[in-house]
Amino acid sequence: MQLSLFLAAAVFLTLVIGLRYLAVAGVFAWLTARRRPGLHGSERSRRQQRRERRWSLLSALIYAVPAAAALAAYRSGGTAIYADANAYPLWWLPLSVLVYLFLHDTWFYWTHRAMHARRLFPVMHKVHHDSRPPTAWAAMSFHWTESLSGAFLIPALSFVIPIHLGALAVVLAVMTLFGTTNHLGWEIFPRRLVHGSFGKIVITASHHHRHHKDYGSNFGLYFRFWDRLMRTDTGVSGDFGREEREARSRADRRRLGGGDVGDGTGSGAGSEPGPAPAE
Ligand SMILES: [Zn+2]
Ligand SMILES: [Zn+2]
Repeated sequence: MQLSLFLAAAVFLTLVIGLRYLAVAGVFAWLTARRRPGLHGSERSRRQQRRERRWSLLSALIYAVPAAAALAAYRSGGTAIYADANAYPLWWLPLSVLVYLFLHDTWFYWTHRAMHARRLFPVMHKVHHDSRPPTAWAAMSFHWTESLSGAFLIPALSFVIPIHLGALAVVLAVMTLFGTTNHLGWEIFPRRLVHGSFGKIVITASHHHRHHKDYGSNFGLYFRFWDRLMRTDTGVSGDFGREEREARSRADRRRLGGGDVGDGTGSGAGSEPGPAPAE
């Protein structure tokens, strides 16, 4: 592989991943401000959101390096990524998406649980949990060691498991969308979906928000499969309504001249220690 091709791909992908993050998280942050005014409006939350953006943009750089290696290898025919939809049976198109998502979910679940171990948590995973509560900008807010742990999987899979370019784009879109919506601090999916058969299988904000509150459960990324199998699933959060009511009343108080009245988390500038890591 030519070094110049790899470096050009790394710079290009850093820009693509960084801009994709800013665009998608920006849209959902805007939507949050419109649909849930006051939810993340405090000065403490705005400071946290600046921190989330800095860590996320560093993650974009880290994700771009193995992705650039895969892209450079693809150009010389060295990966299992294919562009001709008929190169494999058509049923493989949707199945390959599910296989990639399941393997990514499996990697995420086990590395995530490992990062909640007492020794690893402060080094690798505390940055992500410093978002209390997380916002759309927390989608890629990870310490660089955590970003490294997640950066290699999909590029590595693309060398061994055949996937069409379009199917790979779907995987990356699902990854971006769920990484963002799971951190909104409110539920974007209709209640009947979250509490129906969709929500029994697929992880949404109601599930991941509970992980950010009590740390010791709900470790999955896309599916509840591993959490259920390993008995770490504590179901979906039922208290968004209360948090949203509190946010609304804080916004009202602010409008009436009360100034910055905090965000109800009781933590000052992220200095209050969170619950102990699970293991
Ligand atoms: Zn999270
Ligand atoms: Zn965690």
